[in-house]
Amino acid sequence: MSALTEILRRQIALSGPLNIAEYMNLCLQHPQHGYYITRDPFGVAGDFTTAPEISQMFGEMIGLALAQIWLDQGSHPLMLVEAGPGRGTLMADILRSTARVPGFQDAVQVHLIETSPVLRDRQRQSLGAHPVTWHDSIHDLPDGPMLFIANEFFDALPIRQFVRKGSGWAERSVGLVEDELSFGLLSPTAQPVLDDLFSDVEDGTLVEWCPAAAPMMEGIASRVAQGGAAIIIDYGAPDGTGDTLQALQTQKPVDPLATPGQADLTAHVNFGHLAKAAGLDNGLEDQGVFLELLGITARAQQLAPHDSRIAAAHRRLTHPQEMGTLFKVLGLSAHMRPLPGFRNFTTKGSYTQ
Ligand code: SAH
Repeated sequence: MSALTEILRRQIALSGPLNIAEYMNLCLQHPQHGYYITRDPFGVAGDFTTAPEISQMFGEMIGLALAQIWLDQGSHPLMLVEAGPGRGTLMADILRSTARVPGFQDAVQVHLIETSPVLRDRQRQSLGAHPVTWHDSIHDLPDGPMLFIANEFFDALPIRQFVRKGSGWAERSVGLVEDELSFGLLSPTAQPVLDDLFSDVEDGTLVEWCPAAAPMMEGIASRVAQGGAAIIIDYGAPDGTGDTLQALQTQKPVDPLATPGQADLTAHVNFGHLAKAAGLDNGLEDQGVFLELLGITARAQQLAPHDSRIAAAHRRLTHPQEMGTLFKVLGLSAHMRPLPGFRNFTTKGSYTQ
């Protein structure tokens, strides 16, 4: 049995079942055995592959969109912030693709939000000599305008799960059955936050709530309101319900309780909740359409003669049966509607799909 499984069993035996967020948090962030703390999980040899690792085109399109926003807003100095940068590939591609935009790189200061020491080292290698400031949390960023980007960051934030029972909510938990980790349901309690977020769900419906997301979105919005924009890319739904907790190990789904700390744990992102918490003008676009509108096809045609993998990467990033519609892009801005890459924008948190 792994060291983390033993720690979890002892903690549950001592103080009772964990909620799903506590379980996810220990699995992903435990200071010695947490998934993100101990390893670099990306790439073909790792547990999952992300869009920036599939092709440089992903970061190039985002870099040019960010530079366009900066130009359109008057080329003022601002922070360029990425949350959960993984190997640093996306930021490296953004910096490479914007190197020829006059003045851009002198105007932006790069800030990265990252908890994992292993991944901070990887990011340092990827970004070479470029000056970067690291933070543990969005709440540690300096105040001021910013261009914010996050790819597959919010899906790694711990969620809590509840089942509607009459006027209350029964929380799903991880407890012990015959000394094995096992899912259970606690007695219903009042949860006013959920009454507000899920006002019209039927009895017996399971809902997911990411407690860290709203405070983070408020931190993002208070800066973007001063200038810049936020682009948040992830998989999820505008307003989903149902159990989406998933564990991936060596690119395959596994039981989320079977190998704590050894598998990546994620849940679908609720974009409606993110937009509502930000309270800024917003748009939700499919990743495929977003990249197409930013010019990925022309870029693929340019690169194809030099790189035989480009056609497959283009398809993987944009095709509706691959990442094209499963992944969504949330754009937030206080100054410009719509942002490059979006067909539509709605005003201030009045989020509709
Ligand atoms: N954006 C990258 C990596 C996505 S994986 C890519 O597309 O390849 C999630 C990233 O978020 C990792 O870098 C992980 O270490 C980081 N992370 C997860 N939870 C975090 C938290 N609570 N605070 C800061 N970083 C976190």
